Amino acid sequence: MVDLIVIGAGPAGLSAAIYAARAGHTVTVLEELVFGGQVATTPEVENYPAIRKIDGVEFSMNLYNQATELGAKVEFAGATKVDLTGPVKQVWAGETLYEAKAVILANGAKRRKLDVPGEERLSGKGVSYCATCDGAFYRGKVTAIVGGGNTALEDALFLANNCETVHLIHRRDSFRGSKILSDAVIARKNIVIHYDSIPTEIVGESTVEGLSISNVKTGAAETIPVSGVFVAVGLAPDNHLVEGQLELENGYVKAGEDCATNLPGVFVAGDTRTKAVRQIVTAASDGAVAAVNASTYLSSLAAE
Ligand code: NAP
Repeated sequence: MVDLIVIGAGPAGLSAAIYAARAGHTVTVLEELVFGGQVATTPEVENYPAIRKIDGVEFSMNLYNQATELGAKVEFAGATKVDLTGPVKQVWAGETLYEAKAVILANGAKRRKLDVPGEERLSGKGVSYCATCDGAFYRGKVTAIVGGGNTALEDALFLANNCETVHLIHRRDSFRGSKILSDAVIARKNIVIHYDSIPTEIVGESTVEGLSISNVKTGAAETIPVSGVFVAVGLAPDNHLVEGQLELENGYVKAGEDCATNLPGVFVAGDTRTKAVRQIVTAASDGAVAAVNASTYLSSLAAE
């Protein structure tokens, strides 16, 4: 049994691992996909204090190396079942059981879907949720990206470097994302912005051939011929794993700035927690807070 299991190796989970390992605790981090979480698929990070500009993969690699060099063990296994209610916290990854005295849940959030006809059927056949991962397949082609947040804006800029034209579809007349990114998108010659527009269908036989959109103010409809549709309409939590054990609010694990949940010895960090600002720096900050509070909890057990 280790002192602490961290579920998720994104900035929140790995920051928690760094703090817990430095406090002298044994730490196992479970990660189902790749370390870094969403940052691993971010083209460039330029708002993390003291790092002017860094590639998302390099940022993730630095975090991973820092945590593992300090002694945290990262296991590439997805948690499939948990029992967090007792003093011994149990986490299964398939048949394998991991046990710890404390747990930090840092499983992040997943990309939300559009829920329009054609999306499911053409997913992986021209419909993508990750421009950094799939953008290179569309070199010289015409693509569309849906959304108006920082992800959509960053992805539009990234795609514009590869694609002949990028159609950016946003449902309002101003972007939710930051001014610096909005200005860059507006200035980019090969990005065509469709404000006040919502996607109604992704069309194509076996691969994407077009995106149908409708203007919410005028009702005008058109189908833009594109060979790829990128979806960047925000995040949704995925907390079925802890449903019935941890208190949830709109799918997010309910916790305040102390990252403490309704269960003793169970903490939550990063995008999966109820919080106002979901950024890399706030995820890392949560990781530190959760680890310090988990460490205090572990010390209280030792004192018993
Ligand atoms: P987000 O900020 O929630 O933006 C989602 C966008 O999608 C919004 O513009 C929203 O429109 C639109 N949208 C939502 N549902 C839609 C639907 N069904 N159809 C069409 N459009 C829809 O999500 P995000 O861009 O993924 O970012 C998530 C978090 O990560 C944010 O806190 C963001 O600031 C952060 N992030 C930061 C950076 C950075 O700082 N460089 C980079 C990436 C992400 P409305 O605007 O009308 O709501």
